Amino acid sequence: MRNFKKFLTRSIATVLLTLTVGCFAPTDTTTRQEPPSTPAQGPTSPAASRSPKLKIRQSPSPIKSVHLALGNPSNADTDPNNYLMIKPQYALSYNSSKGIPNWVSWQLNQSWLGNVDRGNDFRPDTTLPKGWYQVRPGDYTGSGYDRGHLCPSGDRTRSAIDNSATFSMTNMIPQAPENNREVWRELEEYSRELVDQGQELYIIAGGVGKKATLKGKVTVPLKTWKVIAVLESPGKGVSGVSANTRLIAVMMPNSNQVARTNWTDYLVSVDKVEAATGYDFFANVPSSIQADIEKRVDGGVVRLYRPTPTAAPK
Ligand code: MN
Ligand code: MN
Repeated sequence: MRNFKKFLTRSIATVLLTLTVGCFAPTDTTTRQEPPSTPAQGPTSPAASRSPKLKIRQSPSPIKSVHLALGNPSNADTDPNNYLMIKPQYALSYNSSKGIPNWVSWQLNQSWLGNVDRGNDFRPDTTLPKGWYQVRPGDYTGSGYDRGHLCPSGDRTRSAIDNSATFSMTNMIPQAPENNREVWRELEEYSRELVDQGQELYIIAGGVGKKATLKGKVTVPLKTWKVIAVLESPGKGVSGVSANTRLIAVMMPNSNQVARTNWTDYLVSVDKVEAATGYDFFANVPSSIQADIEKRVDGGVVRLYRPTPTAAPK
């Protein structure tokens, strides 16, 4: 019943959005001006080998991606285990030893949402530097883990190209089915509900720890985490963040044990995710504001659902 109501709500929202989408100019047009893929230049790139003294990206030069407007959480650059990849649809730090991203970061507002169908074209990321192993969809086959999107397919539905971009294997982690298909999905849907209400989100997601390795190539994280900055109005970027900005952060077991729980059961502070991962989220926000908002645990959600505990036998 709850799922049906959600479905109904989403369907109505989608219809309304479809009817009104022509009225919304995209908040950020730079995402459309970027070429289809602009990975950071790797250590093996021709430019680097031609002039080894040339610093390709000098820290702390600004990174031109709307998806990193609030910061680059691990200062990803050209390190093969912290390798910055900027795509029109999202940005990420790739870890070539683990075969998964350290994190994926993306902006979400109404301009990204439309009604294209889910593409399901899972595929290796051929934009990785030459010689790096490209994780294939088949590396997950039979493992018991889903190919779990970090930037969800449902967050990129304005065009088939945008949707297809989310099926790149550099946007995936091996995710326990009950995590991916239930609690994690419900937070994804909640995020789009906020966008339907006119808010703009900056979302960063990833995994931490290691519980297994698939085919000797792909690390299965122990936990999945996500942090979300909820901005009241679109188009302001980092200047839209204040001491009143709502942050949502969760960290949950990458395990089927999360079955029948709610994502709100896993709310933590952003500080806690920073401590667990070693990253600094929202680093472009003034530190005094970060200190203020990152220590809070979100309380903005009505706790919708709790499984009824089974009565102990007498
Ligand atoms: Mn998913
Ligand atoms: Mn921070």
